[in-house]
Amino acid sequence: RIAQVDGDADAGVHAFLHVAGEQALADAAEVDARRGRGEELGPLAGVPVGVKDVLTTTGMPTTCGSRILEGWVSPYDATVVRQLKAAGMVIVGKTNMDEFAMGSTTERSAFGPTRNPWDHTRIPGGSGGGSAAALAAFEVPLTVGSDTGGSIRQPAAVTGTVGVKPTYGGVSRYGLVAMASSLDQAGPCGRTVLDTALLHEVMAGHDPHDSTSLPGPAPQVVAAAREGASGDLRGVRVGVVRELGGEGYQAGVRARFDEAVALLTEAGADVVEVGCPNFAHALPAYYLIMPSEASSNLARYDGMRYGLRVVPDGDGVTAEQVMAATRAAGFGEEVKRRVILGTYALSAGYYDAYYGSAQKVRTLVQRDFDAAFGQVDVLVSPTAPTTAYRLGEKLDDPLAMYAGDVATIPANLAGVPGMSLPVGLADEDGLPVGLQILAPAREDQRLYRVGAALE
Ligand code: GLN
Repeated sequence: RIAQVDGDADAGVHAFLHVAGEQALADAAEVDARRGRGEELGPLAGVPVGVKDVLTTTGMPTTCGSRILEGWVSPYDATVVRQLKAAGMVIVGKTNMDEFAMGSTTERSAFGPTRNPWDHTRIPGGSGGGSAAALAAFEVPLTVGSDTGGSIRQPAAVTGTVGVKPTYGGVSRYGLVAMASSLDQAGPCGRTVLDTALLHEVMAGHDPHDSTSLPGPAPQVVAAAREGASGDLRGVRVGVVRELGGEGYQAGVRARFDEAVALLTEAGADVVEVGCPNFAHALPAYYLIMPSEASSNLARYDGMRYGLRVVPDGDGVTAEQVMAATRAAGFGEEVKRRVILGTYALSAGYYDAYYGSAQKVRTLVQRDFDAAFGQVDVLVSPTAPTTAYRLGEKLDDPLAMYAGDVATIPANLAGVPGMSLPVGLADEDGLPVGLQILAPAREDQRLYRVGAALE
């Protein structure tokens, strides 16, 4: 199927940057051998999975969609990758993404964009457009993504698939190449809520290699999805976020969202409107915090330790000149923009005004969630304000692109879990619409109960 539809940077879905081929066949044979030896394997043993190219994998490259890491092979597997392998899953390849997960369209990949399987002239979302498109094009049944400000949920919304950002700390970040460490979370993507739950359970759990990993048992999301599938939501309190879904949201998105809310009521849920006034400030706060952390994290790409090294001509070349030449050649425009934004926001004299203020807003967003979850069990909103727009449409207007993250960002600022699931097609363009469900930290199972009831 990948050979049929994936194509390359010029044509086709282009969800994959690397396809494992022989290696995947050998891994599949090894799963059979394990089963033959009588080993107890989980429900996903033998199931093919695609992994976003931001997670390290031995035996295949990890590029983060960047020239600066082109051809680089990690000496170790990310914990998540180890968990997939332990579960007997077969990693068929690495999926395309915006460079270092900065973007909402996958157009910022140094290796060419992914195309939306619903319409190849449209964006598959980002930064994890590859992981979502691979599902929508039936190239693999499950993929792993990462979500710093919506990169699992927004691609799920615009491709008609399911994506979950777990509670911060619920899935290990060890081997997840850092963009903004206080916001980054790896998570499962699938075509149905139950499939996604099965993958979530493989990935979740405490990891001593990650200092922000949560202790204690992982949430029982598979049982919750099965419970929700009965369609009975009596006793569940659902809050519709007043600030997300009004002005600026496409009519077809609003219509499908309103229908989904009506279905929740029909299923017996108590639906109320909830105000989260500080969500209005989440977007600007994110676009200060995220570049600030990224500017620090990306300092490691210095032309010495990983990947690309560009040495300028001439004698007496200094380490600084190698760094500058390497970064000039290796980083794309959006990465450079954010590194400059971040270093500016962190610089002496501006730190309090920008980074400090953004951190205060982050606390206010967390308090909005605390107050809301004092009243309801889950919150709902549209995942994205519009359906998939055309490739190229927002490439020259970064602020317009950032604005599309308005509904997904609050969850990352507060560390709470979120799911996007498909709720039909918009009337005006026939493209998929996503519903977002948000739950309190460490209550990921609520997403699955409510999501499965809608499926
Ligand atoms: N679109 C957001 C950004 O560009 C989110 C990215 C992400 O979650 N990795 O930062």
